[in-house]
Amino acid sequence: MARAAEDEDAVVGRREGRGAVVRRCVPRRGSISAAMAAGLALMAGLPKLLVFDLDACLWTPEMYELHSSPSAYDESRGGVAAGHDTVRLFPGAAEVLQLLLNDPRYATVQVAVASSTTEPKWAHHCLDVLLVDPERGETIADIVAHRQIYPGSKGSQHFPRLREATGVEYAQMVFWDDCSYSDNCEDVARKCPGALCVRTPEGLTRELFEAGLAAFARGEKGVLST
Ligand SMILES: [Mg+2]
Repeated sequence: MARAAEDEDAVVGRREGRGAVVRRCVPRRGSISAAMAAGLALMAGLPKLLVFDLDACLWTPEMYELHSSPSAYDESRGGVAAGHDTVRLFPGAAEVLQLLLNDPRYATVQVAVASSTTEPKWAHHCLDVLLVDPERGETIADIVAHRQIYPGSKGSQHFPRLREATGVEYAQMVFWDDCSYSDNCEDVARKCPGALCVRTPEGLTRELFEAGLAAFARGEKGVLST
């Protein structure tokens, strides 16, 4: 399919290194064309790429804390069962991800994850099965087009690879990370000049999401002071 035609129908996400392709259908996110959605994003001053950390940012607990491998989404638990543990989205993260699914302004904005978990297979699995909106059935994988999940420096490895995979410059990226163990925001801000980074010490919230976008629209770079 030609790229132009493809853009009219879908935003294509590639699960890097795994061969599978995810499609996010623009019409389901507002019944408007991709061109119109791109115009709305431009008018709203949105970045081209939104990047989220996973552990303690989008979901809890962290992968290394699980006593068993994650299995299936369990509606009664509201998350992915992993033995006696359950991986759940933070309420704010669920709200943000639903916004990305439903608000046509975000239909052409690319979404990526950057995680340095020591359990990448489990993180990939949770992305594939953790429902964003149980009533509609979409998983996080339906939103995320690019995955960088492996131990390492996000500033030296994850973000340069995201730039290469997407063609998006750092100045068009906003990143949210809890920074619990190391200051990934500072690392990315220092090594990837132009990127804007937002710390989410209690997990992603709608307020911190909006604060990042507002700061981006003002032209701020580096680590956002919150
Ligand atoms: Mg984290």
